Amino acid sequence: AKETGRARTVTYSPRDQGPPEHDISLEAAMFNAVREGEFQLYYQPIVDARNRTIEGFETLMRWKHPTLGMVPPGRFIPIAETNGLINLLGAWALKAACMQVRQFEEVAGRELYISVNISPRQFRNDKFLAVLDDALALSGTPGRQLVLEITEGTLMVDPLHAESVLARMAERGARIAIDDFGTGYSSLAYLKRFPISVLKVDRAFVKDLPQAAKDAAICGAVLDLARHLDLSVVAEGVETEEQLAFLDNLGCQYIQGYLTGKPMPAHVALAALKEDLYT
Ligand code: C2E
Ligand code: CA
Ligand code: CA
Ligand code: CA
Repeated sequence: AKETGRARTVTYSPRDQGPPEHDISLEAAMFNAVREGEFQLYYQPIVDARNRTIEGFETLMRWKHPTLGMVPPGRFIPIAETNGLINLLGAWALKAACMQVRQFEEVAGRELYISVNISPRQFRNDKFLAVLDDALALSGTPGRQLVLEITEGTLMVDPLHAESVLARMAERGARIAIDDFGTGYSSLAYLKRFPISVLKVDRAFVKDLPQAAKDAAICGAVLDLARHLDLSVVAEGVETEEQLAFLDNLGCQYIQGYLTGKPMPAHVALAALKEDLYT
């Protein structure tokens, strides 16, 4: 099926006028970057709030451009989403991440999971389930060790289609996480309708803790909701000990943030896992 892409806003700036904005030259550079292998995956630990043991990693894409340096995903993912390159990049990330987790757990000597971001367009793509099956089969990673992070928006575009895709993901044992939970424009009804396992509380609700009373109330309410629905919660963007202690007191079991580990290349993650063995 042919996808209907959203209208593009592109500005045509000549290449020699400094770094390109979100424009046609960055888009052209992306196709080249795929050929040149400039995309890499970083991994950020997701830890148990109590003892800080690494439970899994979130896979985060990085683009190291030879002259522009690090192009942040907030810059290139939206372009890839518009031109469809996200399907190629996303399939690569899913396969590579499923392979990588095998090495992580070999070093750790215990089961770990890998969390992978799935963009709305990737989720809607006809070949997505085939890509998922390939990733699991090629890596030998059991579905239960894979978490797929999607946003509320991804579910809302076409709920009927989402329902069938999620059911088939669940058949494979993969868990579904709602990324940036609470920041979308959706109702809570989807928590009842879809087989969701994890809520990722957005950094927007975490960054001003423990002082911000409203954020504290929201985090508390999300954790209560999750407890009653038997969902696990990962708090994102935890940067301070005070935030971790506060979230732990509210009953938040999992933490992800600079405090307990920045996104890092695989070899650094492997070193962190070795260290984890002796602490
Ligand atoms: P996200 O999925 O919400 O990822 C979390 C973002 O928060 C990451 O930014 C991570 O580096 C950042 N972060 C983690 N801990 C902290 C913290 O303690 N403080 C602060 N200030 N930030 C923290 P990043 O890597 O720049 O990625 C941005 C977004 O790009 C991601 O947001 C995700 O939406 C998208 N993205 C990244 N990789 C992929 C990918 O492979 N596929 C897709 N579809 N999207 C991706
Ligand atoms: Ca995410
Ligand atoms: Ca997030
Ligand atoms: Ca986010």
